Amino acid sequence: MKMEEDATVMSKLECLKEIRSRTIHLEKVKSRLRQEIEATEGEEKCLIEYRHEMELLLQEKMAHVEELRQIHADINISCLSCHQQIHRNAPICPLCKAKSRSRNPKKPKRKLDD
Ligand SMILES: [Zn+2]
Repeated sequence: MKMEEDATVMSKLECLKEIRSRTIHLEKVKSRLRQEIEATEGEEKCLIEYRHEMELLLQEKMAHVEELRQIHADINISCLSCHQQIHRNAPICPLCKAKSRSRNPKKPKRKLDD
């Protein structure tokens, strides 16, 4: 009778030992998962910031593109005689030799000591 009781107690202790080792293993898995979740959350925050930054950079880029487009449109105007593109500051059209007139004639300067 005593031997049977001992065997039962031993088997219960074996069970407890198994449960304990599995619990330790699960705790390790849990802590690893928690670390990975924290890392993922950190990366998501960074991604949101990067996307916002990228959007701002894209807006800035488009503003520069528009600026360049206007500069380019400014540099090349069409000669009024032969309708070829010439530099906006060219005094004479290099193609038809027509004298070019400024679209924005200089305003006469007022003397300061008037
Ligand atoms: Zn011309």
